[in-house]
Amino acid sequence: MDGIDPYRPDESVYECVECNGRFRTNDHLSSCEGCGGDVQNIAVPRE
Ligand SMILES: [Zn+2]
Repeated sequence: MDGIDPYRPDESVYECVECNGRFRTNDHLSSCEGCGGDVQNIAVPRE
């Protein structure tokens, strides 16, 4: 879980569970842009 920049509220960071690729987007990302695998949001806003 290293190599991630500090959380920025205007972006979400998703990590692919298949290839571990990380993607920043302002929109919802439902699948990996690289391999099409499932992604999970790893920059959940703190409340
Ligand atoms: Zn992937």
